Amino acid sequence: MSDIIQLLPDSVANQIAAGEVIQRPASVVKELVENALDAGANEITIHIKDAGKTLVQISDNGCGMSPTDARMAFERHATSKIRSAKDLFCIRTMGFRGEALASIAAIADVELRTKKTEDELGTFIHIVGSDLKTQEPVACNIGTNFMVKNLFFNVPARRKFLKANTTETKHIIWEIQRIALPNPQIKISLFHNNSPIYELPKNNYRKRIVDVFGKTLNQSLVLVDEETSMVKIHGFIGQPKYARKTMGEQFFFVNGRYMRHPYFNKAVMVSYEQLLPLGTYPSYFLFIETDPADIDINVHPTKTEIKFENERDIWQIIHASIRESLGKHNVVPSIDFDQSGSIEIPLPQKSGENVIFPDIKINHDYNPFHEEKSNFSGGSYSKPLPTEKKNLEHWEELYEGAQLKLKPEALDQTPAVEQYSGKKILQLKQKYILTPVKSGLMVIDQKRAHERILYEKFMIVLKSDSVASQQQLFPQTIELNPADAELLKSILDDLLSLGFDIREFGKDTFIINGTPGVLDVSSPELIVEKLLEEYKNSPVDARSKAKEQIAISLAKASALDYGTELKQEEIDHLIDNLFACSTPNFSPDGKKVLTIIPTENIEKSFLK
Ligand code: ADP
Ligand code: MG
Repeated sequence: MSDIIQLLPDSVANQIAAGEVIQRPASVVKELVENALDAGANEITIHIKDAGKTLVQISDNGCGMSPTDARMAFERHATSKIRSAKDLFCIRTMGFRGEALASIAAIADVELRTKKTEDELGTFIHIVGSDLKTQEPVACNIGTNFMVKNLFFNVPARRKFLKANTTETKHIIWEIQRIALPNPQIKISLFHNNSPIYELPKNNYRKRIVDVFGKTLNQSLVLVDEETSMVKIHGFIGQPKYARKTMGEQFFFVNGRYMRHPYFNKAVMVSYEQLLPLGTYPSYFLFIETDPADIDINVHPTKTEIKFENERDIWQIIHASIRESLGKHNVVPSIDFDQSGSIEIPLPQKSGENVIFPDIKINHDYNPFHEEKSNFSGGSYSKPLPTEKKNLEHWEELYEGAQLKLKPEALDQTPAVEQYSGKKILQLKQKYILTPVKSGLMVIDQKRAHERILYEKFMIVLKSDSVASQQQLFPQTIELNPADAELLKSILDDLLSLGFDIREFGKDTFIINGTPGVLDVSSPELIVEKLLEEYKNSPVDARSKAKEQIAISLAKASALDYGTELKQEEIDHLIDNLFACSTPNFSPDGKKVLTIIPTENIEKSFLK
């Protein structure tokens, strides 16, 4: 039998490698901007068209390439950044694998114009699908300019897999944020279809963060600055009172490179323990500087997973320096921190250990069920729809009826139809509602119940032709960071059909003229901010059903929070409304709304 194994041609090998490095337009942006950083540029401009699907253009004023290097750069494993395996342990550059350009050239139409300072003429190279079309001298600026067109033109499966422009643009914005934050000394501009998304001037770290995320963040930022023999940690953390409902603005960088690090994230979260209201997350922007020999960047082609030699010690240092910063800045009152002390390994059990934390203030008087407006941040309870049943006595019948309409998969986990056997309904820990039913004790999650109620109301609004919008007496303006502004723009139409009347009002600013009639909204801008946070964190795939997903996000954003004390009639009203829903057992994003603790279980627990 003849031999059958052959080496793949370079173009095919490159295409396969491209699958790992280049997943979407944002990966092209990341790789090319990182190359510009490595080339010593202090000005980088990025232009994208159609979310990068048609064009990604990146120009820098870095060192440029000679004609030979320009051609070599597109070869696989061709790099100027390392020479031998031992160099892998002292990496100071963003790139080193020599894969990006070969990968990009394998799956796109690439034009390169590049010139070194000392050269009179630059080099022009045109490569399509790994095929060199042209190489010639050209007059161009010092530095490098890449134009990547028609990404994945020869990988139709990949091209089809790309998400909507808004999603792909968002990924690009995220990549730019991850590069802009640790490099405030570099001027970075990003344009989408010729309109600016970011124009970030050279700045210090703090101002860069504010330029990227909006000036409202400024007041929240607390400095972190700690140097030990092992690592230096600097950056900013958000004050607990500005913590957000979602994990949006949490960034770790090591030696200027963005990384995900769940273990270190935990160190931050533990430092905030008892300082944060339930279900909120602090912002943080932490830059770790360490000897490159102590980390391994080469875990994954995208280099966002990084292994640390001294993970446990660094955990301690992060934890201690955050506690110290929170203390020094009077975020934690009554701690007398040693302001000059710096942390050494092993860590002394000092300062942070005897901290007395202030209580979390929750407005117990706030009542989302009150008809009049309150200053509650998350909007308030919806007005009853005309169809709502007010009579609690019959809710179990409604529940029974509702069961017939449940989807089969929901039915599996549905408790048996219950008879309401008493009138006692209690609230537990301002979180659960307890009520006896025939087979035991029914426990209802009040927030999820409210989400379900609101969601079904929004869906009715979406399906009806007429949209009830409640005009604001004083229209509110809201200023967003560019990424959120893009997102809001992309869902404005859907919000309109839910009853929001929001218009663009200058760069990244919007004016809210009206809110959905079914919501009593006391602070529309907060609802919109929370809605965006929820929407950002919803599964990307679910967004193909955009309207439904927005209704879910809005329900989550405006549902009453845990920690809200409810009066008897408000509990009744909530239960009444819940069992008027078509699917009372599940929240709109599929979480359990209620459970029944069987009487036998309660009895059993007394037998022991
Ligand atoms: P890596 O960055 O891992 O070395 P790339 O494929 O991204 O691999 O780039 C290959 C080489 O091309 C780099 O090592 C560098 O020498 C050169 N290069 C790429 N982009 C630029 C740029 N913008 N300016 C100067 N040189 C560049
Ligand atoms: Mg590179």
